[in-house]
Amino acid sequence: MRLLLVEDDPMIGESLRNALRLEGFAVDWVRDATAADGTLASERFDLVLLDLGLPPGRAPAGEGTDAGGLGVLRALRARHDSTPVIVLTARDGVGDRVAGLDAGADDYLVKPFELDELSARMRAVLRRHSGRAQPLLSHGGVTIDPATRQVTRDGVPVLLSAREFAVLEALMLRPGALLSRAQLEDRLYGWGEEIESNAVSVYIHQLRRKLGADFIQNMRGVGYYVGTPGGSATPQAGGA
Ligand code: CA
Repeated sequence: MRLLLVEDDPMIGESLRNALRLEGFAVDWVRDATAADGTLASERFDLVLLDLGLPPGRAPAGEGTDAGGLGVLRALRARHDSTPVIVLTARDGVGDRVAGLDAGADDYLVKPFELDELSARMRAVLRRHSGRAQPLLSHGGVTIDPATRQVTRDGVPVLLSAREFAVLEALMLRPGALLSRAQLEDRLYGWGEEIESNAVSVYIHQLRRKLGADFIQNMRGVGYYVGTPGGSATPQAGGA
């Protein structure tokens, strides 16, 4: 899962980024509205954590009277981008939360909040966004619970590292969809994190060892998948 964290407070930003990385998310962090706008217009994320009280950044003079997190959110939705957004706000005014939801946020959290609550809301938002009422993902005898990160194979618990889980979850979210090595790396690493060469191959190897050699398939030169390629998912259009 690839997250964009938009937060200007260095301490909150850094601790959130580190905590979410430890949970296996690939986290990219920007600190102002202009950087958030630019990043969201050019890259794809599974989820955005958006602070409402943001400095405008280097917006051209005369633009962005509606700066801050709300402006970022309105611009995102104006581009018909439905990426799930959870608004983070230190303000306690009901008006800000209402404005955030009305501008297209999927949920909100008022600072300070517990990481556990943030994680639970993230899972709920991602579940709703993917149209799944069921919190569990199941395929070919393997079941994963994104909430508890428990994995079973034919009912028997299987222990996975955070990154092995991240690879498996990405594949099981859309059985049949091919994910390239680069797409999987995107889900494992944020900006500035050194990508270990061969890391994806290593995680796939471990997963096959733990879940059965045939569970994850490889289409040579294209990518990895579970299930039948093209089966139940639309192929990624990429780019636009
Ligand atoms: Ca702030």
